[in-house]
Amino acid sequence: MEIKRLDLGHLFIRKEQWPVHGYVILHDRLGVVLVDTGCGGPDEVLRYFEVVNRTVADALADHDLAPIDVNLVINTHLHFDHCGQNPAFEHAPLMVQRTEHERMLRERDEVTEWIEASGMQFELIDGSTELADDLRIVTSPGHTSGHQSVVATTELGIELFIGDAAYTRRIYESSGMGNLPDGQAADLDAWRGTLTDLKALEPQRLHFCHDG
Ligand SMILES: [Zn+2]
Repeated sequence: MEIKRLDLGHLFIRKEQWPVHGYVILHDRLGVVLVDTGCGGPDEVLRYFEVVNRTVADALADHDLAPIDVNLVINTHLHFDHCGQNPAFEHAPLMVQRTEHERMLRERDEVTEWIEASGMQFELIDGSTELADDLRIVTSPGHTSGHQSVVATTELGIELFIGDAAYTRRIYESSGMGNLPDGQAADLDAWRGTLTDLKALEPQRLHFCHDG
């Protein structure tokens, strides 16, 4: 298994710049698995977060890949900076938790409308799901109620694609003691419980979406 980080541009929250990353997992059996697709959505949302976008096609090209090479997409959750370029992967299953899809419909905002208008079809999954002996999806609620993360077993040990269960290593390590950035935890108790569960996996390597 090989892992590549994608540079998908950056965005700003209250004048603070945050990088946006997705990840490619080159898997022997599953082929090219993509975790999160980067920013996209309605103009007003992109403007609000001052998004400096990079297309997922350009980010994949850094690694000699193209969108058509991707066999499976996993969205950690349905925020605009994680599923925004899903339309580039019409040919691939888009795996998301059913509870996350329900949350998106319940909380309805302009991103919901954009997702619906795009016609993207999700493969809805219920809870933790094994994709292969060495690759699985685990639920990690708190950032959003239906958030999920991806766990790989490589020669290094456990590698965790954490999504937005923690924006950065600092937040992961501090477990939310001190100030949290806007939006980190929609449900603080669930979010803390998730960090405890993820730490119990004893990951050797962590892959963040919004860390340097
Ligand atoms: Zn995010």
